[in-house]
Amino acid sequence: MRKLASIQRINALTPIEGADAIERASVLGWQLVVKKGEFQAGDLAVYCEIDSLLPDRPEFDFLKPRGMRIRTVRLRGQVSQGICFPLAIVPAGAVLEEGADCTELLGVRKYEPPMPACLDGVAKGRFPSFIPKTDETRVQVLQEVLDTYLGERCYVTEKLDGSSATYFVNNNEFGVCSRNLELLEDQENSFWKVARQLDIENKLRATGKNIALQGELVGEGIQGNKLKLRGQTVYFFNAFDIDRSRYFSFQEFVELLTRLDLPMVPVLAVDYALQNSIDTIVGMATRKSTLCKEAWAEGIIIRPYLTQTGGPVSDGDVITGRVSFKAINPEFLLKYGE
Ligand code: ATP
Ligand code: MN
Repeated sequence: MRKLASIQRINALTPIEGADAIERASVLGWQLVVKKGEFQAGDLAVYCEIDSLLPDRPEFDFLKPRGMRIRTVRLRGQVSQGICFPLAIVPAGAVLEEGADCTELLGVRKYEPPMPACLDGVAKGRFPSFIPKTDETRVQVLQEVLDTYLGERCYVTEKLDGSSATYFVNNNEFGVCSRNLELLEDQENSFWKVARQLDIENKLRATGKNIALQGELVGEGIQGNKLKLRGQTVYFFNAFDIDRSRYFSFQEFVELLTRLDLPMVPVLAVDYALQNSIDTIVGMATRKSTLCKEAWAEGIIIRPYLTQTGGPVSDGDVITGRVSFKAINPEFLLKYGE
């Protein structure tokens, strides 16, 4: 689970040109604006990430006009992501160690965008336990992962802002899933419509394997269709071998999609040597989309090719140990008020 609110150290405070009342703080790999003099470099503070919904309490009243939600903003030219509070807002008796999660303790919840009707199907059951759910951690909390995998060859894909879709065949059964549920077939539901449109059931059966394909459902009516696509489709980013409980390698994945004639998320680089600078990686994510030249890309996903994780530090997937993470484009977040 994402730590939306946690105890973190303010690593540095630096002046913002032309501003005397505010300064720039670095917390984890995030940059944010704080009131000048409120903190000293090295202080511990309560840090709330973007997407935090703060509870209705007097000390958070100033957030009411913004729907209690922490978003990316730009102040005096400085991009600011997240917010710091003094430790005093934590109830007495709580653990105040660096890294301690205080999301629940403070009653912080996560903002979730509303689900459009075309995606809101009827549940057939829970998400299958034999397939990992899709998820990606933000690079800003992964400095240790970058240090561990520095120099590793990676491939980079564009992160598309749609809705996670999983299609599988297992023991002769074909299944269609949203991010968290398996869905009953219906004519109105976009996950199923796209499955039929791309003939995914037959294509998966033709592999003769128990297999899952996971991708991002995008297009008209989904997440504001920021890339101005026509119709709806899915761009795949994972193939999972259910019997062996492992993801296909990048090469196997590309071969499979080519053979099945199914679309893949845009590949931005196939030979990126991982750098251990969060700012540099966020800089790489600050780019336009390959699917729509005028629109900001939501961000990028970086994955080392290695199949084994090296040691205790990893953002490895629980089931497979694969390392994979995201960097979100701050300009995208600013533009769409996130
Ligand atoms: P958070 O974890 O930051 O609170 P979240 O869990 O809603 O947010 P997203 O920001 O949607 O996560 O990022 C993870 C999702 O990105 C994956 O579940 C997947 O559906 C989607 N995604 C889009 N494009 C790609 C891609 N190229 N590679 C992998 N995943 C992608
Ligand atoms: Mn997540």
